[in-house]
Amino acid sequence: MMPSQIAEKRLEASCFEVMREISRAVEKHGYGRTPLSTDMGDASKLIILVEEVGEVARALTYDNADFEGLKSELIQVATMALAWHASLEGPA
Ligand SMILES: [Mg+2]
Repeated sequence: MMPSQIAEKRLEASCFEVMREISRAVEKHGYGRTPLSTDMGDASKLIILVEEVGEVARALTYDNADFEGLKSELIQVATMALAWHASLEGPA
């Protein structure tokens, strides 16, 4: 079953945000310090991904509920997971 057109548009917008986020991360940390890097080991990539997942949890805590922060952290989780996935294809 295909997602509704509205859901599809939202997913496209999320994918666009992920592409923006990876550019921001590469600019901020340098290519070699993102999960896109084929030089970085899986353990380091897992630490980065889990750190972002932790920030999702933090955005949901009762004393720190932050809807915009939640949205932004979910994009960061997706970005780190997709960057790691892309790196598995080898050096770019
Ligand atoms: Mg974050």
